[in-house]
Amino acid sequence: MKRAVFLDYNATTPMSDEAKRVMVDLAGQTLNPSSVHSFGRKGKSFLDKARKQIALLVGLENEMRNYNITFTASGTEANNLILANYANGEIFVSAIEHASIAMPAAMIPRTYVLPTDKRGIVRLDVLEEALAGSSDNKKLVSVMLANNETGIIQPLKEIVEIAHKYGAQVHSDIVQAVGKMPLDLVDIEVDFASISGHKFGGSPGCGALIARTAYHLQPILYGGGQEKSLRSGTENILAIAATGAAAEECARTLDKRIENLRKKRDYFEDELAKRLSSIEIISKNEQRLPNSSGLIVPGKSSSLMVIALDLRGFAIGSGSACSSGKVSRSKVLEAMGYDKQLISSALRVSFGIETTMEEIDSFITVFEEIVENEEQTL
Ligand code: PLP
Repeated sequence: MKRAVFLDYNATTPMSDEAKRVMVDLAGQTLNPSSVHSFGRKGKSFLDKARKQIALLVGLENEMRNYNITFTASGTEANNLILANYANGEIFVSAIEHASIAMPAAMIPRTYVLPTDKRGIVRLDVLEEALAGSSDNKKLVSVMLANNETGIIQPLKEIVEIAHKYGAQVHSDIVQAVGKMPLDLVDIEVDFASISGHKFGGSPGCGALIARTAYHLQPILYGGGQEKSLRSGTENILAIAATGAAAEECARTLDKRIENLRKKRDYFEDELAKRLSSIEIISKNEQRLPNSSGLIVPGKSSSLMVIALDLRGFAIGSGSACSSGKVSRSKVLEAMGYDKQLISSALRVSFGIETTMEEIDSFITVFEEIVENEEQTL
């Protein structure tokens, strides 16, 4: 049987060979980093190494004194942790955030949701107006750097400038941006950021909250006091060391990775435009991640197309937010002003380093057949 083709790399990526090697090496060892004996010290050395490797990928390699990198069990946990710290203040989140920001934000009484324009970019004028009208001393702006559904990149540096002018701190969910664009958190001057290992060739079950040491954060999990008491619970050293290895690999090969992804994405979009001209590529001319194509296939149902493709061995994402097998209408596309019909026709194709040109060609052939010949009307 032919191997299925995976074109949903924004959902997850395979662990890199180096990450797998590190994980297998550590499996079976007794390394609890909290123990004071030699085994514990060895465990701790893997944590320290992984922090440095991650710092390298996000531009903090010379700033380790000014930032803490706290390991969590996921990007979701890192996002929840930072929002919990501002639950008694005022929070400004964009309308296109991942559920791990949007849902905890919705439970916080003083939350302001920032709209985007048609391109999917946060309205900076509205942000400024909202901050100017706030009398709270404790304020957090949380805007993701790159969107998981459309790949659209936000002007984070400008957002930070505006927020700092009004005494607000800024958090960014940079989960999708890591490993797909150059990152310099010092230059952006963001105060907090969340990452997730399984989105850049590291391990699932490994996230981190990056935070300026100037801000003293409170935990949401209490216990053994690991991670400078910000995240109790024995560290998942296998996942962390593997994620560190993947981070170093990404940092070392970043330019090539970006070029590789962009070449494949551009080829895909050019071919699509030639063969299926009715398809819209969402915010094609905006700054986007180099591996993501958000598509609208007018008149067709995205969930039926995803199923039809799956039956033929191709895995892509529907444009709708999809978790635990539930599909709900995309809040991202809603924020961008798309109507219900078009949102129900949205798909997400995302490429990885492992994607081959043959896979893209075979996908386009099958996709064209499905769009042109099959009855999947709304
Ligand atoms: N933030 C964004 C933008 C994401 O795309 C995801 C995962 O899909 C997350 C956060 C959550 O990360 P994790 O899967 O590690 O919980």
